Amino acid sequence: MHYEPDYRLVRERMVKNQIISRGIRDVRVLKAMEKVPRDRFVDEALVGEAYNDHPLPIGQRQTISQPFIVALMTEALELSGNDRILEIGTGSGYQTAILAELSKTVCTVEKISALLARARKVLNDLGYDNILYRISDGTLGWKEYEPYDAIIVTAGAPRIPQPLLDQLADGGRMIIPVGNRFSQELIKIKRKKGSFLQENLGGCRFVDLLGVHGWKE
Ligand code: SAH
Repeated sequence: MHYEPDYRLVRERMVKNQIISRGIRDVRVLKAMEKVPRDRFVDEALVGEAYNDHPLPIGQRQTISQPFIVALMTEALELSGNDRILEIGTGSGYQTAILAELSKTVCTVEKISALLARARKVLNDLGYDNILYRISDGTLGWKEYEPYDAIIVTAGAPRIPQPLLDQLADGGRMIIPVGNRFSQELIKIKRKKGSFLQENLGGCRFVDLLGVHGWKE
């Protein structure tokens, strides 16, 4: 018989020890992290490490973010359940699933088609039907569905891409790592009428955001 391990308890422990312990309080975020099977988004050889407190390689020199970073960024988006979200950097699709649990629609953009194809398959298999997928340079945003109530960038940028600011709704929130290629600060931006309020949520390290308004290849 094929043995299917039940990771529910492992996820509960992950949420308690890695996420609640570091100050994440949004109950809906915690519930989503307890629900989404992170093990499905990593390579079979790495399943045993899926719930560990660090990022993991997902191929193509990219990584799935550490669970705590996913929780921190998601909480910062202040999601109501009714939002339309733009996500830049689908990667494994794990963050996408968390967002899909907490919003009306997720528009996700990935640059590497092999990664998007794999993420899409896993997300479809898990039954998510509120995600729109696109292969392109996400530093240009996704004009078709703007404005977005929330925008999340999961790759490190040299500066905040102007098209993303333009596509943020009034009252919208954006979260993006900005810095050099080795370390970044997690920046939260809130659009209020004509102005953009910025807040620094602390240091982090992401793979490069490549593109017209990102790093040059
Ligand atoms: N949230 C993802 C993180 C993936 S790593 C996860 O947890 O799995 C960052 C991803 O951003 C990579 O897949 C990389 O290919 C993608 N990326 C980099 N520059 C991009 C761009 N300009 N547009 C879209 N995706 C980009």
